[in-house]
Amino acid sequence: MGIVVQKYGGTSVGNVERIKNVAKRIQKTVQEGTQVVVVVSAMGDQTDELISLMNQVTKKPPRREMDMILTTGEQISIALLSTALQELDVPSISYTGWQAGIETESEFGNARILDINPKRIYKSLKEGKVVIVAGFQGITEKEEIATLGRGGSDTSAVALAVAVKADYCEINTDVEGVYSTDPRIVPKARKLPAISHDEMLEMATLGASVLHPRAVELAKVHGVKILVRSSFSDKEGTYIKEANEMEQENVVSGIAYDTDVIKIDVLNMPNKVDTISSLFDSLASEKINVDMIVLSDRGTETFNLSFSVSIEDAERTIKTLKQHESELLFTDAFYEKDVAKVSIIGSGMSIHPGVAAKMFQTLSNEDIQIKMITTSEIKVSCIIPEEKGKNAVKILHSAFDLDTTEKAKVEA
Ligand code: ADP
Ligand code: ASP
Ligand code: MG
Repeated sequence: MGIVVQKYGGTSVGNVERIKNVAKRIQKTVQEGTQVVVVVSAMGDQTDELISLMNQVTKKPPRREMDMILTTGEQISIALLSTALQELDVPSISYTGWQAGIETESEFGNARILDINPKRIYKSLKEGKVVIVAGFQGITEKEEIATLGRGGSDTSAVALAVAVKADYCEINTDVEGVYSTDPRIVPKARKLPAISHDEMLEMATLGASVLHPRAVELAKVHGVKILVRSSFSDKEGTYIKEANEMEQENVVSGIAYDTDVIKIDVLNMPNKVDTISSLFDSLASEKINVDMIVLSDRGTETFNLSFSVSIEDAERTIKTLKQHESELLFTDAFYEKDVAKVSIIGSGMSIHPGVAAKMFQTLSNEDIQIKMITTSEIKVSCIIPEEKGKNAVKILHSAFDLDTTEKAKVEA
């Protein structure tokens, strides 16, 4: 008998009716003769509500206590879903991350999964039960509860699929699959029948929130096939699979959009060989992740440098730079926050010249200023003013012939 891991996100379990609907969908899979491990998120916006509750107590919540409160959201969902299944006479059992054997690093708020011991899951499956696991959480070596970072239930699901050697991992959500871009921004977005792990990894990393980047990374490393589909319909979803299983390479498969970005400018740095390494060393020692970097060296005594970081690192980045001002000897450092990143992604890009040029031309036709650019074999990203961001996604979607006539279905 095959095993499948099914994950249901926050909207899918947003209220009791929806939880009962999810229970019926699981019952159907069980009746088809499949063993099911389920991962669930907290109901609706509960994680946000728990964060806000904590913020009413203190401006600087202790990370351990924050994880303690956040994991309760998923615990409510597992208990309700397991009970809803038992009401349908489907044997089931709910497990916290710890009970399911999920071991994580000791990094509260953003822990990586180190290992999963599926002993207890196997035992329950053998007893004919559906196993319901709380997403987004695990236990550290010191037996502390840790969370995996926002959106982390996707990662729990893929990691469990690896651990129990599932046939595939199903991500059930509030849209019918992975689209050429966020269907909430472009209703004419196209549902993709399939996409490679590499393309999906770029899409997710560059802002397509439909999947957590670490979940895709894990699936790529372990060759796990993912099916993204809707919890609310039986329409075919999107398969994420190995590139060699794909029939064709798309020049541009999708457009991603991300507003979680800040542009940092450092002015007049002395033009010496070790300046750049010293600057980025100081940021790395503070665990600040730098994304795009642009350097303008005109062969003069000083040069300017721009780079991007995520919004939550903005203040820390400026603080770190200022702390090292006496060694780095720049004249000023500041950030620009009203920017967004728009990216085009496609595995066929590397063999089709002119794709980047077409992107720049399309943006310039609409008078959209490009402030930074990065490229890889399968993507081009531009930092642009945030106010023009959504329009940029729409015009690029159309310019790369991705528009369809059918309106995408999204659940509120
Ligand atoms: P869940 O709660 O099920 O984990 P998320 O909100 O995390 O759901 O992810 C689903 C959302 O991802 C969709 O509602 C959609 O707005 C957004 N999204 C962004 N980019 C894409 C894309 N390319 N294809 C599909 N959905 C996308
Ligand atoms: N509930 C968590 C969040 O909102 C984890 C998840 O839904 O994946 O981020
Ligand atoms: Mg999600």
